[in-house]
Amino acid sequence: MKALVKANPEPGLWIEDIPQPELGPNDVLIRVRKTSICGTDLHIESWDEWAQRTIPIPMAIGHEFMGTVDRLGSEVAGLEIGQRVSAEGHIVCGRCRNCQAGNRHLCIRTVGLGVNRPGAFAEYVSVPGSNVQPIPDDVSDDIGCILDPLGNATHTALSFNVVGEDVVITGAGPIGLMATAISRHVGARYIVVTDINDFRLGIASAMGADRAINVSTTPLADTMWDLGMKEGFDVGLEMSGVSAALHDMISTMNNGGKIALLGIPEHEAAPIDWNDIVFKGLTLRGIYGRRMFETWYKMLAMLQTGLDVAPVITHHFPAAAYAEAFTVVRAGEAGKVVLDWT
Ligand code: NAD
Ligand code: ZN
Repeated sequence: MKALVKANPEPGLWIEDIPQPELGPNDVLIRVRKTSICGTDLHIESWDEWAQRTIPIPMAIGHEFMGTVDRLGSEVAGLEIGQRVSAEGHIVCGRCRNCQAGNRHLCIRTVGLGVNRPGAFAEYVSVPGSNVQPIPDDVSDDIGCILDPLGNATHTALSFNVVGEDVVITGAGPIGLMATAISRHVGARYIVVTDINDFRLGIASAMGADRAINVSTTPLADTMWDLGMKEGFDVGLEMSGVSAALHDMISTMNNGGKIALLGIPEHEAAPIDWNDIVFKGLTLRGIYGRRMFETWYKMLAMLQTGLDVAPVITHHFPAAAYAEAFTVVRAGEAGKVVLDWT
């Protein structure tokens, strides 16, 4: 089969012919139709320090995907050949305390598809049957291949009650954009989204933000007063991984505000304002991955009842044009970029 492979310990990716993945008795072989590119894939492509420490080579990469069930291991029940599916990309141990308590997203031995084991940027991918998630008929293939990052957005946006609350979202990357649509869908009052990229801020407005502001020219606090807010934001969703954004967020939160932190700092994280956290009585919660499988259930249910995240997909390429697709993602004038494997 054809696959996009990290073949050599140097920057780059290569389309290669490799054997189809092994199928264990509990596994499902999926014929991949569509995939989307994540920031993680950029790290692997550029072969940065993290990738050098983490990625076994050679290996097919990628974890955001959808396709159809091609073959079922002998022990797999409840799925059908030809069924449209996606899959949770964290493969967990099932034995640790968190797994056994139903907190599988917090497994201490989690293994990542396309990171620690062969991934989905390929004609076929093999995953444990328990990770496979059917896609309802009324959810398109395009949306089906971004359920992984939509799950990050859902898990973060639903981690605190936002009904009737004023929400600030720092970072209008694909996940911040989808969190905007979710916050609107579930009933937030004002939603303010920040970024330094005007292209992405334009999409944020289309996805339901009351204000989408470029913080390199407009201070977040000014926007608050402009909306008539008298106190501060109730809920903050940090989706940039940028220290300045978290500082801004903490300083504009109301007393008792709640912050969910998804963004991963790329550079050394600057110290946060400890005083503000104490005296404002803020709650900060780190967010990793998405709940298995409660988040999957909720996002699919919301998609079936009017949640529209389609504007986040800005580009499509055939898999063979992966190099161009990666260039578009890296340039930042894009939301989600989809690769077609059919
Ligand atoms: P992204 O890199 O596409 O988006 C980040 C956005 O932040 C960009 O649009 C960037 O322009 C913007 N930004 C830069 N400086 C800013 C500033 N000062 N204020 C506001 N915004 C600023 O990433 P994404 O794919 O949307 O993911 C969002 C974040 O979540 C990333 O940090 C990613 O690494 C992280 N992530 C975490 C998990 C997890 O499980 N915790 C999973 C997936 C992604
Ligand atoms: Zn575990």
